[in-house]
Amino acid sequence: MANEKAFTVGARTFMLDREKAEQAFADKKVINGRESVFFNLLPLKYPWAYDLYRTMKTNHWEPEDIPMQKDIEQWQSSDELSDVERWIIRMGIGYFSAAEGIVGDNVLHVIRERVTAPELKLVLGRHAHEENIHADSLLYMISSLGINPHECEAMFEDVPTITRKNEFVMKVSRQLRRDLDLTQLENKQLFAKNMFLFGQCMEGTQFYGLFGMILALYRQNKFPGIGQMFRYTLRDESNHIELLRSLLMALKEENPEIWTPEFKEELRAIMGEAKELEKSFIADCLPVNAVGLSVDEFSQYIDYIADRRLEGCELAPLMPGVSNPFPWLAEMMDIQKEQNFFEGRVTEYQKSSALAAVSDDEL
Ligand code: FE
Ligand code: MN
Repeated sequence: MANEKAFTVGARTFMLDREKAEQAFADKKVINGRESVFFNLLPLKYPWAYDLYRTMKTNHWEPEDIPMQKDIEQWQSSDELSDVERWIIRMGIGYFSAAEGIVGDNVLHVIRERVTAPELKLVLGRHAHEENIHADSLLYMISSLGINPHECEAMFEDVPTITRKNEFVMKVSRQLRRDLDLTQLENKQLFAKNMFLFGQCMEGTQFYGLFGMILALYRQNKFPGIGQMFRYTLRDESNHIELLRSLLMALKEENPEIWTPEFKEELRAIMGEAKELEKSFIADCLPVNAVGLSVDEFSQYIDYIADRRLEGCELAPLMPGVSNPFPWLAEMMDIQKEQNFFEGRVTEYQKSSALAAVSDDEL
């Protein structure tokens, strides 16, 4: 029938009334769209969001899948590790224990809360869940190594360069709880700023100092279990960065009035501040020499990563032409999503993924 369209999901076919479908499609917006309690995923207006959801689902992992025996042996031995290496691990666990929770809370209670299209809510729900998995993996590390949890907590609260990173992101989160009028230009910009800050500055740039440190240890065969979990986490983070980038670009397409030259400069300045906070944190807390890296190179690495984030959002880089001083780290971090370096259980999650065989054009 001419006014009906068939949608196939897995083994099932649904007939949609064309007119109603077109109306539902038109009503879907990043913000200020139709509020629907029915969670109408079809017809998809943002296919990239559903694709990303599927990718994230096939990457599923659980902390208990990763053996920690070797890490425990190293942690307890008196000659295999230096105090500096133990400090880096404590720092990593302490920082991320709090940071993962901050990101998850903002995704759930600010971004997902105010976005209206169901497929966007779907992928943001998955994002928040992955932050739970990351938080759970840190709990698993703490309990495996027998670290006193209050020690990690205290570290997070007592180190000023960490507290400043925390306050930097929290101030744009507190302003944006549910009753804000998103038809106002300045509020739309505040919302856009929140997405940029969390996706590109925090997850996309400020996570990379410690990621680099821990993966540098991993590269020297120290903490293989923890290193593996951080690689899983990084693969997830690269999807979070991409999700919040695409969401910001979609918001901008639908609300072009937000994207003024002043606003673009404001976003670039926020990234500049994020970088400075990360560099002072590295200088203050990360004994980079101990893992065979130099402070200058590490600083350059942060510049390099930040500019990739800016370019992803169609913003001019802050240090044009800066090169990546750690190509090995890029290899370990910027893993292509197709590349399957996972073994065992993760493959089983992929096999059991119900919709894995549905192609894009079928939706
Ligand atoms: Fe995370
Ligand atoms: Mn994340």
